Amino acid sequence: MINCDICIIGAGPVGLFAVFEAGLLRMRCHLIDALPQTGGQLSEVYPHKPIYDIPGYPIITAQELIDKLMEQIHPFSPTFTLGERVESFLKNSDDLFELTTNEGTKVVAKAIVIAAGLGSFEPRKPAIPTLEKFEKNGVLYWVKHPKDLSGKQVVIAGGGDSALDWTIHLADIAQRVTLVHRGDTFRGTPESAAKVFELARQNKIDLILKSNVVDLLGQDRLESVELLDHERNSLSIATDYFIPLFGLSPKLGPIAQWGLGIDKNAINVNTKDYSTNIDGVYAIGDINTYEGKLKLILCGFHEAALMAQSAFKYVYPDEKLTFKYTTVYGINPL
Ligand code: FAD
Repeated sequence: MINCDICIIGAGPVGLFAVFEAGLLRMRCHLIDALPQTGGQLSEVYPHKPIYDIPGYPIITAQELIDKLMEQIHPFSPTFTLGERVESFLKNSDDLFELTTNEGTKVVAKAIVIAAGLGSFEPRKPAIPTLEKFEKNGVLYWVKHPKDLSGKQVVIAGGGDSALDWTIHLADIAQRVTLVHRGDTFRGTPESAAKVFELARQNKIDLILKSNVVDLLGQDRLESVELLDHERNSLSIATDYFIPLFGLSPKLGPIAQWGLGIDKNAINVNTKDYSTNIDGVYAIGDINTYEGKLKLILCGFHEAALMAQSAFKYVYPDEKLTFKYTTVYGINPL
């Protein structure tokens, strides 16, 4: 069981900055994100794109901004549960929130901040009838612990950067990596594609083009995948893992069932402090809606600052809150 003052759902830029604003007020945060890494849309969708509208940075790439935010919140020692989706929360008999993830992780918090962006990113799944049967026994939608694949046979499917990057990375870890792609050119960066072609030329990986994985076979766990090429020839490959990497799409998912006021897939908030209709639950960043809302990072940062002031009064109702400049009081690590 993890205990904290504030549990933040979503570790995108806004969730991360909320740790800073809460930390200034001596509140300890735990963050949960469905993705295996922090950074939300910035790290998942456009890490190398330049952003021009962050105050003080004429230009900064999305991943650089996330790296800076991680550095900025470091003194406040946030803790993380990554690669897990918050499924539900309830108020327990001590009047504390109890959150549960899809993996059964439990977090107890005095307040909740939902910074869930467009919802949790879910993998786009290929239409293979037997896919779900092996989801806990050989099918992976992302690689949380690459070392688990050491000495294993791995089949990766996809033609974008994720498929290329994981093929390159796992080539040195797995016993054998096979990359299956339905085309013969890749959508990913030309440098990564060139590296994959070179690894195949050196016989360090198997590259199978113009083919699709159409079936998964095995008794208790995955044992082989069936391929069909464009001329309808079939091929069977023995494997321990199948990793389909066809991108991620955001889904509001469980948030819609939490009794919050929802309008067009976003949470209604009071712009005084970005509180929701549930006492002690706040919503900031892309996930909220109000008149004049702009889905911009800097707007989410402003919302985080106002939320923290209000959350402090909710978490510590008997303590006095004095407004302080960081220039005067600095950063006091937690
Ligand atoms: P997100 O970044 O979406 O992060 C939310 C996180 O919550 C996700 O990681 C998700 O997995 C997680 N999550 C959701 N539900 C759950 C759950 N139930 N359990 C666990 N985790 C959950 N904005 C700008 O200001 N300037 C720009 O130049 C700019 N350019 C952009 C370019 C592109 C291509 C795109 C797509 C967006 C751009 N944006 C830009 C918008 C900006 O990315 C968003 O405003 C910002 O990401 C919102 O941050 P967030 O933290 O609210 O949400």
